[in-house]
Amino acid sequence: MSKRIVILGAGESGTGCAVLAQKQGFDVFVSDAGIIKDKYTQELSAAGIAFESGAHTADLILNADEIIKSPGIPDKAEMVKKVIEKGIPIISEIEFANRYTTAKHIAITGTNGKTTTTMLCYHILKKAGFNVGLGGNVGKSYARQVAEDHYDYYVLELSSFQLDNTYHFKPHVSILCNITPDHLDRYNYDLKLYINSKFRICMNQSEEDYFIYCADDPITKEHMKDYKILAQLRPFSFYTEQTSGAYVHEKQFNLLYNLPKTSNQLLTMFINDFALKGIHNSYNSMAAAIAANVLNINKDVIRESLIDFQNVEHRLEYVATVGGVDFINDSKATNVNSTWYALESMDKPVVWIVGGVDKGNDYTALLPLVKEKVKVIVCLGVDNHKIHEAFGKHVDIMLNTSSADEAVLVAKRFSEKGDVVLLSPACASFDLFANYEDRGWQFKAAVKQL
Ligand code: ADP
Repeated sequence: MSKRIVILGAGESGTGCAVLAQKQGFDVFVSDAGIIKDKYTQELSAAGIAFESGAHTADLILNADEIIKSPGIPDKAEMVKKVIEKGIPIISEIEFANRYTTAKHIAITGTNGKTTTTMLCYHILKKAGFNVGLGGNVGKSYARQVAEDHYDYYVLELSSFQLDNTYHFKPHVSILCNITPDHLDRYNYDLKLYINSKFRICMNQSEEDYFIYCADDPITKEHMKDYKILAQLRPFSFYTEQTSGAYVHEKQFNLLYNLPKTSNQLLTMFINDFALKGIHNSYNSMAAAIAANVLNINKDVIRESLIDFQNVEHRLEYVATVGGVDFINDSKATNVNSTWYALESMDKPVVWIVGGVDKGNDYTALLPLVKEKVKVIVCLGVDNHKIHEAFGKHVDIMLNTSSADEAVLVAKRFSEKGDVVLLSPACASFDLFANYEDRGWQFKAAVKQL
């Protein structure tokens, strides 16, 4: 009898797993407590894969040999608790799909910068002519690509949730962008558990692999010693010269040869030439450039890619200039750290649109930047009291709004030629919007109406 695989969650990743599991000859069942989107139910039905939508039926799940769980489902979910109790192994899409490919992997994790770095790595590899797929948190499911396509390389964006149920996955190149507190509700409010999860990205790497990390990131630096990292280390820094990896010195980016302890630079260029602006994005550019370098990609290809990369939507995305005021959409900034970098990179007086669902934010880190750069705060959320408490004394004008249209109108009214209106909420979006994309789109639509 064939082994029974049950897949919990039928989004892009779960459906992709179902396709691959069926192809591998398993007895497959897909279960989603929510309503599965039509395009996936149609696909599952057409493929003859059994599924249930809107419920988890214990009898059909607890007889599994192995469970593939969507990263969106927490371990605290009732059915997952039962699965754990019964001792059925739970794995992630990454762990599962990885069993059926011999491709090399470039895997990217971190609190902020994952998507940008992932897209940039993918861009460089494509430009260099690699036969490469893009997956993880972005685009088409990795498992589906393993089932249907034949790539030699995969660039994968991995959240900590995806890493949690990954056990044997061994990327050739791993990138840890940074670690700051986030998602702690899923980690018993214990930062160390979240850190452990991030470091799973390199736990199976060996000496022929590479671990790329931010040498300026205090949490990464402090905790690296707690893990046995066998991969070759490739740090990047904006502030200190490095002997391998990459660093910035006087606005000049230096990518070092893929050899430790060499003083010869492989590539130097001015960071102003990077397509991605801001210190945070310089980090992302450095990380991606090192990854390309360890894959022996020609330096001219790396240089060109860093220059002509098109930034990802909702990340410090320039929208328009209206009456001399620039409007920037950074809706993806859903935590304090990403907003810090957004404010840091502003070089004009800022009318700042902030707020939403506060995930236990501590706004202290933003105060110096707010005092220096922000002239008006436009709160965009249902409950704005923490923002008022944090900044009320330091900014002359603070207003509450409850829709993107209203926020944009108010921001426009209180701005003048030469200012920038920055939507960088530092909060999740679910109080007023479907998700951060919806928030960004509504913001852009409102700007276009001005
Ligand atoms: P992720 O996929 O990890 O959420 P994104 O690339 O989507 O990361 O960026 C999310 C937010 O964080 C955006 O607001 C972006 O401007 C900001 N950001 C991007 N890279 C970094 C970084 N290296 N450090 C801090 N913030 C960053």
